[in-house]
Amino acid sequence: MNRPASERSPAEKLLAWYDGHRRDLPWRAPPGARPDPYRVWLSEIMLQQTTVAAVDGYFRRFLARWPTLSDLARAKLDEVLHEWQGLGYYARARNLHKCARILVADHGGRFPDGEEELRALPGIGAYTAAAIAAIAFGRPATVVDGNVERVVARLFAVEDPLPGAKPALYRLARELTPDRRPGDHAQAMMDLGATVCTPRSPGCGRCPLAEDCAAFPTGIAERLPRRTPKAARPTRFGTAFWTVRPDGAVLLRRRAESGLLGGMMEIPSTDWTKERSRDGKALDRAPVEADWRLLPGQVRHTFTHFHLELAVMAGHAGDGWREVDGVWVPVERLGDHALPTAMKKVVRHALSHSAPVAGAD
Ligand code: SF4
Repeated sequence: MNRPASERSPAEKLLAWYDGHRRDLPWRAPPGARPDPYRVWLSEIMLQQTTVAAVDGYFRRFLARWPTLSDLARAKLDEVLHEWQGLGYYARARNLHKCARILVADHGGRFPDGEEELRALPGIGAYTAAAIAAIAFGRPATVVDGNVERVVARLFAVEDPLPGAKPALYRLARELTPDRRPGDHAQAMMDLGATVCTPRSPGCGRCPLAEDCAAFPTGIAERLPRRTPKAARPTRFGTAFWTVRPDGAVLLRRRAESGLLGGMMEIPSTDWTKERSRDGKALDRAPVEADWRLLPGQVRHTFTHFHLELAVMAGHAGDGWREVDGVWVPVERLGDHALPTAMKKVVRHALSHSAPVAGAD
């Protein structure tokens, strides 16, 4: 017999709510079915820093192209980066590919089921390891993302601001995690945060945890979690070189594996520095001798931690082009290469100041 709601724990109420209100997401197994660790992992990596709506199409395309872990391990890195274009944070795509290869080579093509072993794999941090362990393997791991932090901060009326409050919120989330159906509990917390306990105007009137919530009766829910104000994003400066060969092909170069946009193709550019470089100084870093001219305007792009302003110099390479490190690509084939968004903006900027050529994007 069902116990009255007042006698049930918050975790029990949440699971009952989840059974009737779970979101139907392409990577989720139907109720009662065993989740596929490959799908859980792929979706969790894609969802880092991104929304469900943005990931949906990428997830379906990845799965159609590489239905299993071994298919992904066999793919070329460039194909994976190309399919990832637009999702950002390309280190995730490189780690995804590396992780697939390690799992096939060293783990018999299977994911380990413990958080510690999962964390030893490329691209899998504490959150993702907990999510895979709980959702794919039913381990009682505590999964805390931004949605869960918000729910817990409100449930316990935690007024200390983030990010300092993170350890306390994790401990409280762990106290809530049940031994029974921990994967569903994790997904229920995420769903509650995404659909009911939303950042603005939380739907407390239809919340399964309203009776247990400390923030609801005091009317402070919408103000939680508090956050320490962020420092303003700094700006970095650089120069990109739009280098054209006598036959019209443009020079691309691969960035170093480590660092921002590691391993991605770029329009060759200087380092990105805190100070704008003095006139002529940037030319010391040009990939080849050419009749360089500065194009009007700037290319601006914002990364998580800084704004980038790139000046663009365009030039026709002299005979030295044969010695240059990089690949020469006809303008109409630039779209075949996995260029990060900042570099696509450089391409558009350069083309808008030269003779327009179709198919560059
Ligand atoms: Fe969030 Fe309101 Fe539910 Fe509390 S009662 S958990 S504030 S939706």
